[in-house]
Amino acid sequence: TNRTFTMLKPDSVEKGNIGAILEKITASGFRIVAMKLTHLTTQDAQAFYEVHNERPFYGELVEYMTRGPVVAAILEKDNAVEDFRTLIGATNPADAAEGTIRKLYAASMGENAVHGSDSDDNAAIEGAFHFAGREMF
Ligand code: ATP
Repeated sequence: TNRTFTMLKPDSVEKGNIGAILEKITASGFRIVAMKLTHLTTQDAQAFYEVHNERPFYGELVEYMTRGPVVAAILEKDNAVEDFRTLIGATNPADAAEGTIRKLYAASMGENAVHGSDSDDNAAIEGAFHFAGREMF
């Protein structure tokens, strides 16, 4: 068993989609280890997407991720990182497989509903950024 980190992004909260998305996540075999509604600061979002800081969409990405609250959560399942990336689908919802969260709930590449960590190391770093040990169950 291992863990991944997710955020249901501001568009998911705004559209009232968090219940449906969480239902899909738990129905797919993920256990919620930690979860909260939180609001990223500009500094948080800049740091989170530091790898993209030279890209033309970086400013828009930071604006989007900070415009309202997100649901941050740690999820547990065998093969969690890879299986969650499969469940959310391609970064661009136009390319996402049928039944994936981005196919169902994302509007565009820029507003794509959900984040999933891309490695075990990043899952641990991202989870520890948002949650103290006593908030993980
Ligand atoms: P995430 O890190 O959010 O799970 P990802 O790993 O599928 O997404 P990345 O390539 O790491 O995709 O891009 C991070 C985020 O940056 C994407 O989720 C998307 O919101 C945004 N993004 C990526 N490429 C573009 C683009 N060409 N135009 C606009 N936004 C983009």
